[in-house]
This record gives sequence, structure tokens and C-alpha cells, in this order.
Amino acid sequence: MSNQLSDRINSVTPSATLEMAAKARELRAQGKDIIGLSLGEPDFNTPDYIKDAAIQAVKDDYNSYTPVDGYVDLKKAIITKFKRDNNLSYELPQIVVSTGAKQSLYNVAQVILNPGDEVILPCPYWVSYSDIVKLADGVPVEVPTSLENDFKMTPEQLEAAITPKTRMLWYSSPCNPSGSIYSKKELRALADVLKNHPQIIVVSDEIYEHINYGVTAHASMAEFEDMFDRTVTVNGVAKAFAMTGWRIGYIGAPAYIARATNKLQGQVTSGANCIAQRAVITALEESPDRIKYMVDEFKERRKLILGLLNDIEGFKCNEPEGAFYVYPDVTAYFGKTFNGTTINNASDFSMYILEAANVATVTGDAFGNGNCIRISYAASVKEIKEAISRIKEALK
Ligand code: PMP
Ligand code: GLU
Repeated sequence: MSNQLSDRINSVTPSATLEMAAKARELRAQGKDIIGLSLGEPDFNTPDYIKDAAIQAVKDDYNSYTPVDGYVDLKKAIITKFKRDNNLSYELPQIVVSTGAKQSLYNVAQVILNPGDEVILPCPYWVSYSDIVKLADGVPVEVPTSLENDFKMTPEQLEAAITPKTRMLWYSSPCNPSGSIYSKKELRALADVLKNHPQIIVVSDEIYEHINYGVTAHASMAEFEDMFDRTVTVNGVAKAFAMTGWRIGYIGAPAYIARATNKLQGQVTSGANCIAQRAVITALEESPDRIKYMVDEFKERRKLILGLLNDIEGFKCNEPEGAFYVYPDVTAYFGKTFNGTTINNASDFSMYILEAANVATVTGDAFGNGNCIRISYAASVKEIKEAISRIKEALK
């Protein structure tokens, strides 16, 4: 039968991060010794105090449908977290809990965008942003940034990208994939540009908030009084709490946006998983100090991987201030031929590394910047050392 799928799904690119992870799994199943540095997934287990809360929830018979926008006591814990960590004062009708931050982002795009509306994405951006925008009939507008500017968009670049069709600005800080963090001053400068364009809503993805190595303090766009009513703050527990599979994300948003995402979710997925929500109450109510041991470990690994990569000729890295990725520029290798394989772009480079070194990374094209590859260091020290040594060998 011919392809009877919708134009919508035919226009979507598969998630490069998930695709590379699947490819690594497949090659492993064939007996290959693949080191996976493609997926942004902590290699820690969920902390025991959070697991215990989930076990208790099962025993306490939490098994019914949950409210579409989340349990009230979870939403209260989110409000307390926003106040404690971000100095943001949200109220109950402004919070919506979803099945992962990915769904939160999808919801927001669906309820805000009309066909042809433009969304400004400073590059590099997290892999799913542009397809989530396209699925809502929006138009991603990529703003290239440079390694020299730590992959951050300047106010001048923002101003130049705005058109009468611009409806949103999306970014993550700390950034996946560059690890860059916008300081409060830098965010203020972007907010100043937006003052003249009241139709633009900001989506501030702060899922890596706690994975911050202490150079630039975390700041939220919604902290500015003039931005609070036009910013959607997205967060989740996957990264900092090592809870990727539990699938809980959430937003703090203007009430009309929260209401609309609630309506959408009610027709699509209903409320998020009951046990996971109970566990997240504990995760958020406890002090973030309890997860600091993971951040400290990531910090050590960052130092290790940067040292090893900077030792390979042709790799140029910025120094990530948060998240757990490095995003080296590998253009020095473009045009070179190794064992009969010519590398013309970042995808070729990433594929060559997979085949010649058995190391899975992700091509920078997927993040809107084709000069780089993304390497996740949410892996053990042993794996990182072995992987980078193999890459070095394959490039000799
Ligand atoms: N935003 C960013 C920047 C991410 O890296 C991810 C990856 N998980 C998400 C959102 C989605 O998070 P979740 O797993 O909670 O859906
Ligand atoms: N966010 C992670 C990553 O960038 C997990 C995979 C995904 O959801 O895309 O690798």
C-alpha cells in the first residue's frame, strides 16, 4: 500500500538523540562494544528517598486517574520550588504538570501558534524544538550563534530576527547542547528588546537548572516583572533527579496559557502518571542539596572530558557552565578522508566515530549547528576515558 500518512508526520524529522540511542542499542545487540555518549541521560539511579515515596504511593493505593493538570499537592510543591529556587510567585491556576517537559513544550506550541507564526530559536537549540514548532504549523527561525560568544544570542541578533509574524522565543538555559547559561544581565538585555514587541511570548526551558557548575548563577526570564506575564517557565525532574523514565515535567505560565494546555492535555493524555507524581512531590519538597552529589560528579567529568578533547587536534570546545554535554566544533576535519571515508559534515563525522571508534555521539545538525557534534558526559569516568581515547585513535 502506498504511504497514506499525513503530510504533518511526513514533515517531521525523527529525534536524532533517540535515533542515535536506538542505533547504539541495535549495534550492541549485534555484539559490538559501543560506548553511548549520545543520550542526555544521567547514569545515576533515582535517589532512594524519591523511590521510597513512589513505593509508599503504591502501598497507599494511588491508582486512579489523576487531575489533568496534576495533583494539587504536587502543584503546591512546584509553587514552593519556584519561590525557593527561582524567586517566582506562581499561583495554582498557573501550574500544569505533564508527562515530561517534552510534552509541556509540545502543549505550549499547540496552544499558542497559528499557521505561519514564527518562533525564534537561538542555535544550537535542543533537538526537538524545531519539530515541535513545525507540528504546531509554526515556522522555526534559527538564529546562529558562535563558539566565540559562548553560543549565546545577542540582543542585536534577537532584534534582527523579529518580524511581524514572530510569536515566540524559545531557549534552554543551561543550554542543551552547548551548556551555556544566560546570566540575569544577559536575559535583561534580551527582555529589553522584547519590550517593543509585546506579541512575543518567551519559553524558558530550565530543565538543567540544578546542573550548574557555579560560574553563572541560574536566572529565569520570568523574574523580571515586565516578563512574568509573557513567559512560560518549563522545568522537569528527568535530569537533576535522575528520573528520565518517570516522565514528569511542568510549566509555570500565564493562567490563560495554563488553562489552554490543561484543555489540550485533557483530550490527549489526561493527567500524568499517579505514582510518578507522588514521587516528584518528595523530589521537589526536599532540598536540592540532596542531589548535589550528582552535580559534583558531573563537574569532575566535565573537567576530565574537556581536558581529553582539547588534547585532540582540531577539536574546539567552549567551556560548558551547566548541563552534561560538550559541543565541540569539528570543522577542522571536514574534507579529510579516513580509511576511505570522506568527512564532509558533522553527520559524516559522527557516523565515522560510530563506525571507526564504536562511540555514539549526535551530529550538531540536529541542534541547528552543523559545525559541531554533541557528546554527553553523563557516563562513567571509565567510559569517558575509553571513548575519547578511541576517538583520538580513529582520527590519527
Ligand atoms: N528540554 C531539554 C533542553 C532537554 O534536554 C530535554 C531532554 N529530556 C527535555 C526538554 C525533555 O525532558 P523530559 O525528559 O522531561 O521530557
Ligand atoms: N533530552 C535528552 C537528550 O537531548 C534525552 C533524549 C530526548 O528526549 O531527546 O539527549
